Amino acid sequence: MRRRTLLAAAGAALLGACSSPAAERTSAPRSTRPPTATPSTTAEPLPPTSAPPTPGTAAEVLARSTVPVLCFHQLREFRADDGAYARTMITPPATFRAQLEALRDGGRTPVGAPQLVDHLQFGAPLPERPVLLTFDDGSVTHHSVALPLLRELGFPAAFFPMTVVLGKADWLSADQLREMDAAGMTIGAHTWDHQRVDRLAGDQWVEQLDRPRAELGEILGHPVDLLAYPHGVWSPEALPRVEAAGYRAAFQLSDPQDPAAPLLTIRRIMPPPTWDGPTLLAQLDGSF
Ligand SMILES: [Zn+2]
Repeated sequence: MRRRTLLAAAGAALLGACSSPAAERTSAPRSTRPPTATPSTTAEPLPPTSAPPTPGTAAEVLARSTVPVLCFHQLREFRADDGAYARTMITPPATFRAQLEALRDGGRTPVGAPQLVDHLQFGAPLPERPVLLTFDDGSVTHHSVALPLLRELGFPAAFFPMTVVLGKADWLSADQLREMDAAGMTIGAHTWDHQRVDRLAGDQWVEQLDRPRAELGEILGHPVDLLAYPHGVWSPEALPRVEAAGYRAAFQLSDPQDPAAPLLTIRRIMPPPTWDGPTLLAQLDGSF
């Protein structure tokens, strides 16, 4: 609840400070969670509350999908046995710091994943030059390297651990996930053991989509409703399964968004460690 209050306060501050046309849509919601029911001892109907948020059409969501989303994996020094491909997914801590400081110095404002999804879905306002930071797989470096720097810079972010690794050496633990959640980070699912969703069948849908969501929800004590596709891969056939499993939005990598389901195919880019600050900033402007 504390987090929700903070988000609401942040949203209110934005509404007050921002003069963009988006901010004038006063009906735009800051959260899509249903309001907490107020117990009533009488049979009288509750007084009317504000109108429920109206989701945008697929075309509107697509048109709003201009916010850059970055996807990181492991944050550590290279090791001798790291292959060329692995080295595109490993960000040494000093490089990671330089990239995040470049976002700050370049006028980018990291936003929370629920904030971005509220913007895409309902047109809720965002700060100028927003960006979303995401972290896939569940490396323990998300807690040891990313979390302290995100806290230092005051940046929110979203983390998508596969649940099979939780509590194992070099991977996040349930306690660490709770700490990150309490620090204002968003935790989403990344399947159980990193299966491509375009190849799932039979019982695998429940195993890879429903159970990880339930397990993370149990760990955190509140529902989890975001998904990142392993390998960034999705298929049109998987999207109804993703929605039925209770996910509100899902993140892929570089395919075009599905025009019919843009909220379930949000694009991201993986900044390689070779990008310095100016390159990163230029890529954000050019890729979204
Ligand atoms: Zn992954």
